[in-house]
Amino acid sequence: MLIGVPAETLAGETRVAATPETVKKLVAQGHTVRVQSGAGVCASVTDAGFAAVGAEITDAAGAWGCDLVLKVRAPQESEAGLLRPGSTLVGMLNPFDATGLHRLAAAGVTAYALEAAPRTTRAQSMDVLSSQANIAGYKAVVMAADRYQRFFPMLMTAAGTVKAARVVILGVGVAGLQAIATAKRLGAVIEASDVRPSVKEQVESLGAKFIDVPYETAEEKEAAEGVGGYARPMPQSWLDRQKAEVAKRVAQADVVITTALIPGRAAPVLVTQEMVESMKPGSVIVDLAAAQGGNCPLTQPGQTVVHHGVTLVGETNLPALVAADASALYARNVLDFLKLIINPEGALHLNRDDDIVAACLVAHEGAVTRA
Ligand code: NAD
Repeated sequence: MLIGVPAETLAGETRVAATPETVKKLVAQGHTVRVQSGAGVCASVTDAGFAAVGAEITDAAGAWGCDLVLKVRAPQESEAGLLRPGSTLVGMLNPFDATGLHRLAAAGVTAYALEAAPRTTRAQSMDVLSSQANIAGYKAVVMAADRYQRFFPMLMTAAGTVKAARVVILGVGVAGLQAIATAKRLGAVIEASDVRPSVKEQVESLGAKFIDVPYETAEEKEAAEGVGGYARPMPQSWLDRQKAEVAKRVAQADVVITTALIPGRAAPVLVTQEMVESMKPGSVIVDLAAAQGGNCPLTQPGQTVVHHGVTLVGETNLPALVAADASALYARNVLDFLKLIINPEGALHLNRDDDIVAACLVAHEGAVTRA
């Protein structure tokens, strides 16, 4: 089979969907892998690195016109026409973007959006949301430390003592947990909040304090349990009490990292303008929900702004800033997913009885296959 790896063209996208490690395995399975010249360069992988493991280096048309195309991001409008009707596309294809999915259906491809995989044990090795969120959580803390004009750790020096930074983390999914772990390694004092009660133990096991907002009604408790491991919108009564607790912590914080998301919806507002204005000058907020509208209304997606002396980082693609490891982990996720859609004879097959395949399938035979 011909497998293509085009270069990513979205502004700021530095990742690549295959690495020499995964290409080597695909070539060993008998496939021909065509990598677009320069596809890996922003992720520190040269054409020579791909060629050394048996890839053919081609132009864009060569990489797109394959039986199976591996991408990081959904094709842009101008690129959809480069796909061969009847071919298969695998990538992070925005399963909630109806326009994009219709474009893929119109291109006549079988398309799999990896973000739509269920959060099950079997799907863990191909869970792109986890592999990339983990990186985003790490990079958010590193960026905050870079912008913050003080130390993270408590230090006792001959010139006097320096206090540890107070870090507040809002939303403790995969990114939030890694943000806690990273801030802890740097010596910060950390508090964290999430709607899901199961998170408390994880927060405490990483050495942070959980901001407890008890549930007062059965409705609040039920909403907090979420669905499929994801959060659901919480009742206003609970959100109001959470806001009061969070406001107290944010006013004391030096760094706030927000990661709260609800799949398919705008991100919840957790840090209001008033809260930002209560913070000390020099404080830093990194809003990982920037691409989904932000957890703070002052966040400018893709920009870093200063409001009232507080720096707000609205970077929308943090994994792309750790391109080499982000690509390495993403490429392994892709390789694992391919095991579900390539049969032992090395040909593509569609098994709708497989729950992961069925969940990820977004377009097939000219139709969008996702509600
Ligand atoms: P996410 O990126 O969808 O959301 C980030 C966090 O924001 C979540 O923890 C969510 O509860 C929280 N949040 C939403 N609204 C909030 C609010 N108003 N206030 C505070 N926090 C709020 O989440 P994610 O990182 O994708 O993880 C979701 C869940 O899936 C987690 O429990 C994670 O451990 C689980 N998971 C399971 C598997 C698996 O079993 N294979 C793999 C990955 C993740």
